[in-house]
Amino acid sequence: MGIKDRRVLQIIKAMLKAGVMDESEVNEEGTPQGGLISPLLANAYLDIMDEWISGQWENKGTQYPYKQTQSKTNGLWNASTIRVIINNEAYIGNLIQGKCGSVSYKNHKLVSKPKEEWIRCDGTHEPIVDRELWDQVQALTAKNYAPHKRADGKRNLFTGLLVCSDCGFKMKANVERATHKDGTEVRYVSYICGNYSRSGKSACNCHSIYENALVTLVLDHIRTHAKLVECHEDAIIDALASAQESETLSCRAAYRGEIDAQRKRIVKLDALVDSLYEDRVSGLVPESMFKRQIEKFEKERVDRLQSVDALEKRVRSIKQNADNAATWARLIKRYTQLEDLDAETLLLLIDKITICDVQVIDGKRVRDIKIHYNYVGDVDALGEVGVYERQAV
Ligand SMILES: [Zn+2]
Repeated sequence: MGIKDRRVLQIIKAMLKAGVMDESEVNEEGTPQGGLISPLLANAYLDIMDEWISGQWENKGTQYPYKQTQSKTNGLWNASTIRVIINNEAYIGNLIQGKCGSVSYKNHKLVSKPKEEWIRCDGTHEPIVDRELWDQVQALTAKNYAPHKRADGKRNLFTGLLVCSDCGFKMKANVERATHKDGTEVRYVSYICGNYSRSGKSACNCHSIYENALVTLVLDHIRTHAKLVECHEDAIIDALASAQESETLSCRAAYRGEIDAQRKRIVKLDALVDSLYEDRVSGLVPESMFKRQIEKFEKERVDRLQSVDALEKRVRSIKQNADNAATWARLIKRYTQLEDLDAETLLLLIDKITICDVQVIDGKRVRDIKIHYNYVGDVDALGEVGVYERQAV
């Protein structure tokens, strides 16, 4: 008990046993509620209760302490906070609602909903992160991109980008060290098939390729395409948009015309059905003919609606391809004078690079390396479309 003063303790003792006037000399049951000494006793009792509570929870040893002694992040955001931020579309001006909801109208427990069921409104407010950067971050998240720092503090440029063309595994960086005669130490970075690295020759071939050779090749590829885009942007966008669909942008206008014609016919069909009903009611058309005609109209209506749907999908797909091609063109034409490759540029431009094994053709060692750009994929087919030749005259 918190009270240490012996005089106070004596007074309490006396008061607890004090009798009641005209009733008893000594009170064995203690002080009545609301008595003179109650506040003091209440405080004494609360002190005991405080100690008991501390003993039960606050001072009780646990596997993980309740209090964090010191923030380990030094005031910086930690990884999970950043993950929440880079997945929040509010930063690019979209409003997302319905991320969670109740299980049913009877069960009000809140549960997270799958992404497909979210309600998304694009462009409801001004974005604070531009779309390209956002897409870049999303692509990195999807690729699970996590380059390891080497002992010399540098990062392997092509980590996560190279794919073995035979087995589809990611290529793995391999650092070789060598010491020259004059004592200087040099490192050579190469990439080998991850499958081969893990399981040996029985799984795949080595596919080894040196980083410096790749840098030269990729730099040249980027610069060449940047210059081409600079000179023939519209033709290249058109060729890229149509390459995947084998339909050029001009097809879009034709499709739109067809969609309009189909829609007009559907309206006409509805009017025909209405007048047929009227004729049936007024007895002008016999039952059997009415049924046959209605079935015919309905079948035509369904066919035309399906056709409109298919055409609209094609138009949307062509537009999407054209948008992607335009985005790629806008990105790559900044790099006509690119001198050095860095990880940011690579990730911004390139989706993946497939590496084939070395073959010997006519006594020469050759290998096929395909660069797949973000948004458009493989652009080497552009030459075959004949875009450049057509524009060059
Ligand atoms: Zn392989």
